[in-house]
Amino acid sequence: MARIKAIRGMNDILPESTPVWQYLETTVKSVLAAYGYSEIRMPIVEQTDLFKRSIGEVTDIVEKEMYTFEDRNKESLTLRPEGTASCVRAGEEHGLLFNQTQRLWYTGPMFRYEKPQKGRYRQFHQIGIETFGMATADIDAEVIMLSARLWKRLGILDAVTLQLNSLGSNEARAKYRAALVEYLEARKEQLDEDSLRRLESNPLRILDSKDANTQSVLDGAPELSDYLDEESRTHFAELCTMLDAAGVNYEINPRLVRGLDYYCKTVFEWVTDKLGAQGTVCAGGRYDGLVKQLGGRPTPGVGFAMGVERLILLLETLDVIPADVRQPFDLYLAAEHKGLQGQVITLAEQLRDAVPGLRVRVHCAGLKNIGAKARQTGAPLVALVKQTDEGLTTTLWQGEEPRFDIAQADLAEVVKSAFNA
Ligand code: ATP
Ligand code: MG
Repeated sequence: MARIKAIRGMNDILPESTPVWQYLETTVKSVLAAYGYSEIRMPIVEQTDLFKRSIGEVTDIVEKEMYTFEDRNKESLTLRPEGTASCVRAGEEHGLLFNQTQRLWYTGPMFRYEKPQKGRYRQFHQIGIETFGMATADIDAEVIMLSARLWKRLGILDAVTLQLNSLGSNEARAKYRAALVEYLEARKEQLDEDSLRRLESNPLRILDSKDANTQSVLDGAPELSDYLDEESRTHFAELCTMLDAAGVNYEINPRLVRGLDYYCKTVFEWVTDKLGAQGTVCAGGRYDGLVKQLGGRPTPGVGFAMGVERLILLLETLDVIPADVRQPFDLYLAAEHKGLQGQVITLAEQLRDAVPGLRVRVHCAGLKNIGAKARQTGAPLVALVKQTDEGLTTTLWQGEEPRFDIAQADLAEVVKSAFNA
């Protein structure tokens, strides 16, 4: 019988990696807590229309990347390709958006039918934040400062750069779009195939074409920044001033447009050159029109999503994962001879009671070469228990030097001070 395998582009995350995932998640959570964020958890499946209406019908995601299917009731459902639309839907449905402010975060798997490669998968994970009800540039700045703080905590700030742009109002963008199309129509024969197709459907996306010819055509194209409305211009200038004051470095990239239709004003990406083509680890921006577009009362919003797999690849590439992250237990406890197993299990329970936070793994199989095996686990503490005339005594290793003959009555105190040392 053929063996059943995982779906292409959908990865198992194995026990050797989960500690790194947990380390990243814990670090993110503590940074989010420092900014007063609350968690929200949304379903993985939504009505297909939610994504069509928010992300936009002529985006890559909706045109060719969604996992869409009919359920038994013939309703069209989609595995979420991103979190913002669901978050807005949930916020609106439960009255969290109108006439108030929110700072929300979520995490979980997202699904896109893409060509799997390093840093690009069909099931991937995002940690996202969304803020609602704040129209001024201070929240744009805070959201970006939060991400910068996170990179600093993770030790990757030097490996990422912040690319920043303003898309302006919808009207400004429409005017610019017309000017860009006129310019490119006159140079059609020099464009790559993808860009030609986008000329009709989503011309702004041509700006971030990877094609060298297209990019050189764009060198003479009208610039979005010349079309910005006064309000967006002021908003962007205020944001830049606040980032300058906070010491957050950025590059203004006039060709940064993002692939989702709902953005306006601020857009940004954190990019690294350490991961090859999949270099964007975090991306976001302002989406003031989205809540209304999904049927709610007008509510401004700003947010971003980071790619968990890409961040983990970056942590590994830069070798900045703390050494103890991958060690799932502090003490390995083993019996030196048969017949003591029951007592060792009880001893482990006593140690868990007596030493808060201590993670104990008990050796529960054969006893051959037990001392060597226990020390090969790499546990910071290894304890070997044996029966003597004086009762149970333990040898404890912390590093190379063993301490012999620790009486049962003293064990918890000795382990406690070694653990806390
Ligand atoms: P890209 O241009 O790399 O396709 P995107 O603009 O489609 O990215 P967003 O929708 O903005 O990406 O998602 C935010 C972040 O989620 C990205 O910056 C990236 O880190 C991550 N991400 C997006 N798609 C994938 C994927 N297929 N596999 C892994 N990570 C992804
Ligand atoms: Mg994409």
